Amino acid sequence: MAKVAFIGLGVMGYPMAGHLHKQGHDVTVYNRTVAKAQRWVNEFGGQYGITPAQAAANAEFIFTCVGNDDDLRQVVLGEQGIISAITQGAILIDNTTTSAEVARELSLALKAKGASFLDAPVSGGQAGAENGVLTVMVGGEPETFERAKPVINAFSRCCELMGEVGSGQLTKMVNQICIAGVVQGLAEGLHFARSAGLDGEKVVEVISKGAAQSWQMENRYKTMWGGKYDFGFAIDWMRKDLGIALDEARRNGSHLPLAALVDQFYSEVQGMGGNRWDTSSLMARLEKNRR
Ligand code: NAP
Repeated sequence: MAKVAFIGLGVMGYPMAGHLHKQGHDVTVYNRTVAKAQRWVNEFGGQYGITPAQAAANAEFIFTCVGNDDDLRQVVLGEQGIISAITQGAILIDNTTTSAEVARELSLALKAKGASFLDAPVSGGQAGAENGVLTVMVGGEPETFERAKPVINAFSRCCELMGEVGSGQLTKMVNQICIAGVVQGLAEGLHFARSAGLDGEKVVEVISKGAAQSWQMENRYKTMWGGKYDFGFAIDWMRKDLGIALDEARRNGSHLPLAALVDQFYSEVQGMGGNRWDTSSLMARLEKNRR
């Protein structure tokens, strides 16, 4: 069993670190708000550091799951950051959803210290993290991946190497681009069903057996039909992710008209006070605009 550090005990990181501990690893956690680190240690055991450097010292595997590019730079390169304490041969596995650029930048910085980097964003949401069944999309060197995979498996059901550093983040961008279009389509379908006087539940029961079926349909139609959005994957996070994908598209020359449009719809939902609402709240925007 390995010496592991976990930096960032948010909605995702808290249960992910818990699974690493339950797997038998020696886990040291760090969280900016110390109370959360104390709560984690009370619940699972292990220990916490009061800086990212302190948590990462002597660790063979260091996981990070913070908010965005700047947060990641701060916990890795900032004062008392991971890089100041990382040991030769250690692997930093970043589970934050970030740009591919920051992944490449950190990979180079760590290489100079004799350490390695994997970008390893996740999909599967809070429930996937709590149940230890996340999908992990990884970018990095094959031999680094092979060493880290058995440890990552503590909280994942599917963990695949997608290519060189940055490829995990690029794959996650594809994931978010696909979700944006699917959720808007589902919202329009349910909105139309209500306008047509149909029983939404019965409609989904039937059409989910056919070609319109999707994860969003199965897992979100009930709350969308009931107008409940105060849970799940926050719009603020989705707009960060779509922003990253749209930036990357400008660089690689792809056209993402639907993702760009849905991003604007999300900005309208933020204007309705929905910053922390689940991404399925695109339906709320349509219902508000009902004639
Ligand atoms: P969250 O609950 O908001 O937690 C964010 C964590 O990062 C907290 O522990 C926070 O510390 C820490 N943090 C943020 N900025 C920091 C900084 N500058 N320095 C140190 N620590 C910092 O977020 P989450 O839902 O766990 O999401 C984390 C990442 O996973 C995001 O990139 C998100 O896009 C991605 N993701 C989320 C989901 C989901 O369903 N939630 C699904 C897939 C991927 P404090 O406790 O002190 O605030």
